[in-house]
Amino acid sequence: MSVDVLIVGLGPAGASAAAAAARAGARVLAVDRRAEPGCPVQCAEFVPAALAGETSAVARSAVQEIAAMETCLGTGAPVRTPDFRGVMIDRARFDAALVEDALAAGAEVMTGVALHGIDPDGTVVVADRTMRPRVVIGADGPRSTVGRLAGLPNRALAEARQITVPLLAPHDATDIFLSADIEGGYGWLFPRGEEANLGLGVVPHARDRLKPLLEDLHARLVRQGRVGETATRLTGGKIPVGGMVGPVGRIGPVEVLLAGDAAGLTHPITGAGIAAAVLSGRLAGEAAADMAAGRSDAADDYAEDLHDLYGPSLGLAVRQRQALMATYDNGGQPTEADLRRAWIAFPEYRQDKTQTPATEAKEPA
Ligand SMILES: Cc1cc2nc3c(=O)[nH]c(=O)nc-3n(C[C@H](O)[C@H](O)[C@H](O)COP(=O)(O)OP(=O)(O)OC[C@H]3O[C@@H](n4cnc5c(N)ncnc54)[C@H](O)[C@@H]3O)c2cc1C
Repeated sequence: MSVDVLIVGLGPAGASAAAAAARAGARVLAVDRRAEPGCPVQCAEFVPAALAGETSAVARSAVQEIAAMETCLGTGAPVRTPDFRGVMIDRARFDAALVEDALAAGAEVMTGVALHGIDPDGTVVVADRTMRPRVVIGADGPRSTVGRLAGLPNRALAEARQITVPLLAPHDATDIFLSADIEGGYGWLFPRGEEANLGLGVVPHARDRLKPLLEDLHARLVRQGRVGETATRLTGGKIPVGGMVGPVGRIGPVEVLLAGDAAGLTHPITGAGIAAAVLSGRLAGEAAADMAAGRSDAADDYAEDLHDLYGPSLGLAVRQRQALMATYDNGGQPTEADLRRAWIAFPEYRQDKTQTPATEAKEPA
């Protein structure tokens, strides 16, 4: 079978794109270099409540509900923000559910197969298949091969490390730990029933500090009697923090759409990217099917949709992140006021000095 749309990556963005493009009538092949997409899990597994309205994969993988966010500044008492509702999911089950939906929609799926390059004439070879797709969707994560080939790599990445620990009492909030030591990132404790994901992210040049910082946070929570000492499921990964790239480009004659982390849609402050991956993947899949059917303005419409949906919130997050990082670059350390300005739960975050109130950004779902 020849292929209209080749999708690289079967995470939330790629699987959502595959389902949407196949539903719209395109001949779709989606490939992932992993034998089992979504495994091993590299995620803290929180999604906003609104994502359940976009995909039934949330309900099919739900572990527990989240009612609020609790933010600890330094060693201070937590500040509870009630309107951060969401769901803790089993990320492996979530990704598998999205792949099932893509297959049910009629997409062809190949796992254990990587894309390494695209020939100058637009020919693509994956495993034993040679094809000339009209459109390639790069849904291949933070270090996207498709983005690199199109000259659209992510501008900045953060590094994260995470363990899973026993949770000694039930908890209904995502806990966030901010401190000047955690350069360009934060610590988190996200409950999932009787255990919790405990992690930490920082800028790449501080990656050597990830392990000791996470051990310190773990020891502090053990002393407080909140979590047990056993650590399982060590994981980590890279998180785009530079804002949107692309999302439209070309590799020779092949039109390219980027989606999810490949398009830099992960929130540069929180690192959350699952919801944006699902939504951008769906939009990219629909646009690619239109392009394959000869609607040439579908790529521009896709770019416009993403800029409308994510431009303001990503722009604000990038500016607040840059302001925070400038305090380190100037040889200092951020004060508590600096840290508050750079965290979404505090009202100071929205007081963006560089923008008029009319352009103030709201967080999309
Ligand atoms: C430690 C950590 C914790 C996180 N916690 C959260 C959280 O709690 N909530 C949240 O919303 N977000 C979280 N994120 C971010 C979230 O995981 C990503 O935003 C999300 O996975 C993006 O989905 P995606 O489909 O764009 O990319 P991915 O999920 O990265 O999927 C990309 C896929 O492409 C495949 N691939 C890559 N290169 C190739 C290639 N050349 N050929 C074929 N296949 C390829 C990969 O194998 C992978 O399966 C976290 C990230 C990290 C690292």
